[in-house]
Order: sequence, then C-alpha cells, then structure tokens
Amino acid sequence: MKEKIRKIAILIVAAGKGTRLGGDIPKQFLHLGGKSILQHTIEVFAGFNDIDVIQTVIDRSALALYQESIQPSKLLLDPVFGGERRQDSVRAGLEALVSHQPDIVLIHDAARPFLPLRVIDDILKALEEYPGAIPVLPVTDTLKRADKIIEGHVERAGLFRAQTPQGFHFSQILAAHRHCLEVGSKEMTDDAAIAEAYGLKVACVEGSEKNFKITNKEDMKRAENEMTWEYRTGNGYDVHRLIPGDGIWLCGVEIPHDRKLEGHSDADVGLHALTDAILGGIGAGDIGTHFPPSDSQWKGAPSWKFLSHAADLVRAKGGKITHIDLTLICEAPKVGPHRPAMVARIAEILSLTPDRVSLKATTTERLGFTGRGEGIAAQATATIALPVQD
Ligand code: MG
Repeated sequence: MKEKIRKIAILIVAAGKGTRLGGDIPKQFLHLGGKSILQHTIEVFAGFNDIDVIQTVIDRSALALYQESIQPSKLLLDPVFGGERRQDSVRAGLEALVSHQPDIVLIHDAARPFLPLRVIDDILKALEEYPGAIPVLPVTDTLKRADKIIEGHVERAGLFRAQTPQGFHFSQILAAHRHCLEVGSKEMTDDAAIAEAYGLKVACVEGSEKNFKITNKEDMKRAENEMTWEYRTGNGYDVHRLIPGDGIWLCGVEIPHDRKLEGHSDADVGLHALTDAILGGIGAGDIGTHFPPSDSQWKGAPSWKFLSHAADLVRAKGGKITHIDLTLICEAPKVGPHRPAMVARIAEILSLTPDRVSLKATTTERLGFTGRGEGIAAQATATIALPVQD
C-alpha cells in the first residue's frame, strides 16, 4: 500500500453568533434542504478522499443546537468551544488538533457549504511549495473610499477577496496563532493575516464564486437555488355524505347551509383531499394512517390540523410545497362566493402565497351522488419540491 505522505486536518469555524438570518439561531445551524448549513459543509470535506480528521469549533451556548444539527461520522471529532474573537476560536481548534499531529490544516468558515473540491485540491497542491495558501477572487467592482460622500478612488488592480479554506502547515500556523496571542495582537479577520504577521509566505490560488459565504437573506435564497431539487406530485380524493344540519366546513371556512357533512372530524372534504395529496407527494401514507378515525382524539377535530401536519412532514424532509390545485365537486352550496376566503385560509394553513393555491368547483350536471346532492367530493393535486439527497 502506498504510504500516506501528509496527514490532513480540517478545522471548521462555527462559533459565530450571527443571528441576522434566523431569529435566535446562528446561521450555520439554519437548515438548507433538510440539513444544517454546518452539516452540508462537513459533508463537503467528508467527501474528499484524503481528509483524516474534522474538528469543529462552536460557541459554548450552541452545544445543544450543534448536537441536533450534526450527524456523527468517523472523521468528525467532538467539537471544541471557541472564544470571543474569530482568532481565539481558531486557536482553540488548533490546540485541540495538536494531539492528532496533522501535517496540514485547512481552516474553513462553516457558512461556506458550496466549496468545490477543486479548490481543496489547489490549496493542497500549493502547500507542497508554500507554508500557507488561500483561495482568492479578483475584485471586479470599482472601489470607492466613502463616508456617504465619496472621498477617494481605490485602485482595484492587485486587490483580491479572500475566501476559505485557508491551508497551512500545521506546526507553522499553530506557532503563528500562539505568537499572535503572546504579543496581544489586534483582531484579525482571517488566518492568512495571522500567518503573514508571523512572517509566513501565503500563496494565492483561484477561489470560486460558488464558494460564497452565507451572511444575509439574499445569500440564503441563493443557497436554496444552489441546491438540486426534485419535483413530485401527489393526488388526493375524498367524499363525505351530506345530512340534515345547519352548515358545513369546506376548505377551512364555515358556510351556512341547510345540511352538514357527516364524518368523524369536522368532515372538511376539501382539506382531506388536499392532505392526502400532500402525503401522497412525500410517500407518507394517507390521512387515516396519521389520524385514525378509531382514535377518539380526532372526533370533531378541525381539519386544518391534518393539513398543517402534512405540511410539517414536508418541511421535516427539507421540502417545500410549491403549488396545490383543488377541485370541489358538488351542486350546492355555491363555492364561488366563498372562494377568496377558502384560498386565503388554505394559503395561511400551508404558509403559502395565495398565488400557489388554486381552487376550482364543478358540478356533475345533476348526475351521480354529487348530482343528487347526497354528498360532496373533492380532488386535489399537490406539487412538492424535495432536496435531492446524494
Ligand atoms: Mg375524509
């Protein structure tokens, strides 16, 4: 067997508390297609053949979040806790790696989950010649120095944007970080700056626009677009009998009527067909699987609960409902006057914009059980986007 020349460690910095994107959740723990951004990032490296260990650095307060959002793997070490500044976190990670004696360490931002393997390759190649190497991209926009009013022009020739992973010979970057601590250096925003301050030569390799850092809402949208989605459709059909009564629930809206729909729950035939369509789209059985009529807790239950549960199951798979189309089949009541309220209610239950909810009604020309007014039928189609798991 060919002897391995270099032992390579990955250090993923996930200690940031940036919550601009996700309410209380730091962005690296937000989900993208059913997995945390950090998990996506870990998987990039796990998919690269030559990696020996992966060390993450997290904030002490995020341990529970971390455990929820990570799948354990052979390469992945227990996380270590970071410090106040980025450089303190990186140093904590490097110190934790000392016992593993790596030759090379690649230090990477958790919020860059789309790192192409080609960049890792190029960094490792450059490290055969230099103690440090980082991916960079040229600045293409014209640069201005300004404070509301432009104060000057900055020559962009020779300027680059630094990305991660930043790769180093392990013992040298460790020494640089220890030195940086000893001399009480100011805050540094990347490891290349720390290496440079210590006198290490850091080479530049070509970065990638795909390797962007997720920092704001727009980045999150872009990240979703970077994912590969597959589209599935499910259909649902339901019938409920009409019996004497004083009103019916249809598509989450109560309609005064001289009859009511018979059923174990509120008998909302429209929401039942729709729930089955969504469950069908993700291969999750039918409404009876999740809410058996034999279970007394669903007696008289409002059907929005069933629909909402189906939507939760889609979300749990990292998926999104992109469109639903529902047809109600009955002679009476007239659906038209209630349609806007029904569409609004379904959109609300599914957290969709109303333009993704289509609701139609038809009669059967007085033919059959719906034509005779004995019951109402509904059929639905749901289109669902699911992330492709590779
Ligand atoms: Mg039903």
